[in-house]
Amino acid sequence: MSGIHHVTAIAGNAARNLDFYTRTLGLRFVKKTVNFDDPGTYHFYYGDEAGSPGTILTFFPWEHAGAGRAGVGLTQETAFRVPAAAIGYWTHRLIEKGVAVDAPARRFGEPVLEFADPDGLRLALIGVAGAEAEAAWSANGIPAEHAIRGFHGVTLMLDQAAPTGAILTDVLGFTEAGRDGVWVRYRADAAAGGFLDIREAKGFLRGGMGRGSVHHVAFRAVDDAAQAAMAQKLSENHRVAVTEQKDRQYFRSVYFREPGGVLFEIATDEPGFTIDEPLATLGGALKLPPFLEEHRAELESVLPVLEGAA
Ligand code: ZN
Repeated sequence: MSGIHHVTAIAGNAARNLDFYTRTLGLRFVKKTVNFDDPGTYHFYYGDEAGSPGTILTFFPWEHAGAGRAGVGLTQETAFRVPAAAIGYWTHRLIEKGVAVDAPARRFGEPVLEFADPDGLRLALIGVAGAEAEAAWSANGIPAEHAIRGFHGVTLMLDQAAPTGAILTDVLGFTEAGRDGVWVRYRADAAAGGFLDIREAKGFLRGGMGRGSVHHVAFRAVDDAAQAAMAQKLSENHRVAVTEQKDRQYFRSVYFREPGGVLFEIATDEPGFTIDEPLATLGGALKLPPFLEEHRAELESVLPVLEGAA
């Protein structure tokens, strides 16, 4: 299966982030851990029941992060899939929760509802015909028929689509699937996280990473061998430098900067989020990788308290 594995973004206040994604959008909190490269800060993972690839949105909540600025070289929008008939339900729900929604629009023939999270991260719900037949995690009063079914995809704002498109199609398992005005669409074979759109915006200001920005987009590799083959193709066919593999506990990752400036990751589907706690209680306790377990008391004393949050 090819497509988006996860999307990682920068948030401000941790408790507010947890509240929005679980109570307003109804995602499952599948892992509470720390940023392995900066363990005094959290790393939150949201997704479907199991945190399946293609459903996982993750955050680095950095309380004092300055606001990001949208622009070229960054992800413009992260979109979730909902059943086509659920767009009306979500319009009412978001307004009722105090979330400002843009006027309903259509993109590539599908209804789109655009809004932002409390840190300004641009999000959308896209109504997909037939999505109601797929299993959904349903919580916080959201009926299963309307619940989010993982990612639709992300939109990158880039000077030009072609150099990034070449990597999407040659290495990451996507094919070019259409154009709609300034949008170029690439499609992979996974239902969840199967779309990557590039909005060509030559001459726009470059974006600035900060609170409300996507930090990186991760793509799927079934296992280490597939990931190694993709890394080799990147360096041989595209002269792109790839990092060494890093063990992220729930998947194993390599990273590279794509030609348009966005940080990409290739993450393995295995082993997944049940490696250190049971499916039924995912997200319930602070989980630490073995190399940080001896520092648990110290870390727990510096991490923000998540009062009353999910
Ligand atoms: Zn990542």
